Amino acid sequence: MLEWTHRLSRLGTRFFTPLQPTPLAAPAWAARNEDLRIQLGWPSAVFDENHLQAFAGNALLVGSLPLATVYSGHQFGQWAGQLGDGRAIWLGEAQSAQGPQEIQLKGAGRTPYSRGGDGRAVLRSSIREYLCSEAMHGLGIPTTRALCLVASPEPVRRETLESAAVVTRIAPSFLRFGHFEHFSAQGDVDSLRTLADHAILHHLPECQERAALWQGNVYAALLDVVQERTALMLAQWQAVGFCHGVMNTDNMSLLGLTIDYGPFQFMDGFDPGHICNHSDYQGRYAYGRQPNVAYWNLYCLAQALGPLIDDHDLTLQVLEGYKTLFPRCLGDAMRAKLGLVGDLAPESEREADWSLVEDVMQLMSAEKVDFTLFWRQLSQAVVAQSTTSTLTDAGWSGVTDMVLDRPRLLAWLARYTERTGQSSFAAMGQQMLRTNPKFVLRNHLAETAIRQAKLGDFSEIEVLHNLLKSPFDEHSGMQAYADLPPDWAGQLEISCSS
Ligand code: AMP
Ligand code: MG
Repeated sequence: MLEWTHRLSRLGTRFFTPLQPTPLAAPAWAARNEDLRIQLGWPSAVFDENHLQAFAGNALLVGSLPLATVYSGHQFGQWAGQLGDGRAIWLGEAQSAQGPQEIQLKGAGRTPYSRGGDGRAVLRSSIREYLCSEAMHGLGIPTTRALCLVASPEPVRRETLESAAVVTRIAPSFLRFGHFEHFSAQGDVDSLRTLADHAILHHLPECQERAALWQGNVYAALLDVVQERTALMLAQWQAVGFCHGVMNTDNMSLLGLTIDYGPFQFMDGFDPGHICNHSDYQGRYAYGRQPNVAYWNLYCLAQALGPLIDDHDLTLQVLEGYKTLFPRCLGDAMRAKLGLVGDLAPESEREADWSLVEDVMQLMSAEKVDFTLFWRQLSQAVVAQSTTSTLTDAGWSGVTDMVLDRPRLLAWLARYTERTGQSSFAAMGQQMLRTNPKFVLRNHLAETAIRQAKLGDFSEIEVLHNLLKSPFDEHSGMQAYADLPPDWAGQLEISCSS
């Protein structure tokens, strides 16, 4: 019923191992993403009983050619050698209303790349991946998508005994930096070139035009395009307080999509040093370090592409771009949070705006103010203040009540008002409500859905999905989902195992 193209599988078995998913006992739907199905233009039958079996790995979709791809990567700053799809099985590329989409079953059993792992994913982490993919999409952040979630009573051993699940993931391409590192490390330039040409032809055709900027070198252009997409993604992560948690090079998408949701977290109280991954003892992947880690990872990609670019100076020049592009993307993203939009703003104005951003972030960090709530309350206060004839300190109480140092925040608000003028507040406030989300997937919200799902009730997954797919809307009656985390959330230890 789905129409397949098999552009990746045509590249040959240097790049993957064909294999079948491992059957999964007694599968049941835990979530079906109707919105995504409709966006892809796929028929409602993709959620029928036959497809339940296919997405559990118990049957093959007609026309699919399942396989696991090989990649390598740097983990926590060290070369880790060969990794590969240890539990994700690629079914193929299906035509959709949004162009060909790769379909992957995550947790579908062992592969030649499982390295001692069981090839499974637990229900807990699969719910988190399903919800966070869709939450990121709702926020307008590039991400792999989640089509559905299948749960099974099959036991899976982690710290404790848990149960298995499979997420069906969708993306135009699941290529990672690590795919390129793999062939480069092996000195297999022919395969490296084949893979790069495949990526350029089918996924990043803009490289052809971009090559003109880089002495006609299309592989330098490839690095440049990836660098640009990565910078944009990182700026968007930082602007919503998202910590990925495991930014190893094998978890970096070539298309600049957020991929491989593990111990991620949307920060509650703002802390630039926040570490969401409990096995990240050095804080390598702390929130405030993510942009530099992305640069480090791009450097690894650049090294991998070295034999193709074949010009060290040119490679370094391309990488330099990140150092100006990322701050610009972040500056724009943060200015938008303040209601200040306009790409054409002069540099002096941008610098002044950045100091406004920095000052309020310092205040937030000094008191660990709740990141999401602060920006939303500021947006609402700006809307409210737009209708009063004279600004009063009391009019800002929605935000000033969030901090202990009220005078400091009031002084900042005075500077902010001076910058924009109260007459702009009405338009700015509306813009801010579309930029600063009311709902993010806080750990405790996911945890509630997980606890209920473990008891066989999957309804909370749908409740959360409905909120998170439109996180800027008010959703009357759902205020509790936007409030500060409850006390028990402070004790939550999000396990890194998945
Ligand atoms: P991650 O840190 O989750 O991105 O995974 C790193 C590597 O370990 C990848 O090659 C994964 O496919 C593999 N992996 C993670 N968990 C498992 C598992 N339960 N079974 C087999 N391979 C796994
Ligand atoms: Mg991974």
